[in-house]
Amino acid sequence: MVTVNTNYAKLSESYLFSTIAKKVNAYQEAHPEADLIRMGIGDVTLPLTGSIIGALHKAVDEMGDAQSFRGYAPDLGYAFLREKIAEHDFQKRGCSVDADEIFVSDGAKCDSGNIQEIFATDNTIAVCDPVYPVYVDSNVMAGRKIMYLSCTEENGFMPVFPKDVPDLIYLCFPNNPTGSVITKAELQKWVDYANEHGSVIIYDAAYEAYIRTEGIPHSIYECKDARNCAIELHSFSKNAGFTGLRLGYTVVPKDLKRDGVFLHKLWARRHATKYNGAPYIVQRAGEAVYSEDGAREIRGLVDYYLQNAKTILTGLREAGFTVSGGTDAPYVWLKCADQKDSWEFFDELLENAGVIGTPGAGFGAGGEGYFRLTGFSSHENTLEAVRRIKEHYA
Ligand code: PLP
Repeated sequence: MVTVNTNYAKLSESYLFSTIAKKVNAYQEAHPEADLIRMGIGDVTLPLTGSIIGALHKAVDEMGDAQSFRGYAPDLGYAFLREKIAEHDFQKRGCSVDADEIFVSDGAKCDSGNIQEIFATDNTIAVCDPVYPVYVDSNVMAGRKIMYLSCTEENGFMPVFPKDVPDLIYLCFPNNPTGSVITKAELQKWVDYANEHGSVIIYDAAYEAYIRTEGIPHSIYECKDARNCAIELHSFSKNAGFTGLRLGYTVVPKDLKRDGVFLHKLWARRHATKYNGAPYIVQRAGEAVYSEDGAREIRGLVDYYLQNAKTILTGLREAGFTVSGGTDAPYVWLKCADQKDSWEFFDELLENAGVIGTPGAGFGAGGEGYFRLTGFSSHENTLEAVRRIKEHYA
């Protein structure tokens, strides 16, 4: 008789987005005239740009021609894409990352959930609190112990070194949900800590394109000796709008060794066994992101969302809220008004302003009392949401 993985019973139920949807539906039914503005989910709203669409069309045509048809992709991804990534995302920034250290995937969610498989189940895991839930849930499913690094207003929503040394450390900057960023000097301390203790950092750089401030690292490999302790995750979702198309990549440096084993070898084995690669046409679309036109268009998309984040940040500050994030990140993190808890504030904002956000408690205990708004709406809706919030709270 089959038994099941009982670790799944230890997962906290993910009520967050379904609870939000239920509450919104109920509200909409009771108030059919309500004009609601959605600023909760982390999905992008602008369509794919011309260069991406052009590359997709061309690749689709190639697939219909016997001469240019492609079947299974190479395990690590196509060289045309990996070489562009190595050059533009790393070498141009002075980071030493080679194309054969890049594993193309269908996104950072899968990679951030799967990467734990190459580590033993008795490793201890450190995550920030609040946190992107995938890091926690994937490790709970595997039966690992989780250590929470409390990120509070007092410490500027930055993790501090724990008393007991963790084996795996998940860091995400610019951060989801708080929008906080880390300086190169601070990140270097984590790299030094990991190298000193033999830990590995899983560095999630999904929002790297939102960094506009000098001195904020786009990659952990900008830090000295990071190749000896860090794996880095990237996504094409939030910069190029690939949330529906699906593309990302993971960097595992060839010299990163733990327990006598090169981690690149383990991840290559895992990738080859369990994964068939992102579709050819999507990898061609990814290549277009690095063309001159593509890069310009994508900067325009990110600028658009950053402008919204700025509108939210300044508007809410003027309305008297305690706010952070929102400058090198699409997320604005705010303290709920009148010491309300996250869900009370959710209801209040819905009723008072018709604005839907995400309760901070959905990202862990450390998010209680906070709320996340995103810059992913249209300019018009963002301005209107801020106007309504100011009208009610200022
Ligand atoms: N990492 C973080 C921190 C995220 O917030 C998200 C998406 O919201 C992802 C990874 C997932 O990215 P992708 O769409 O590439 O799977």
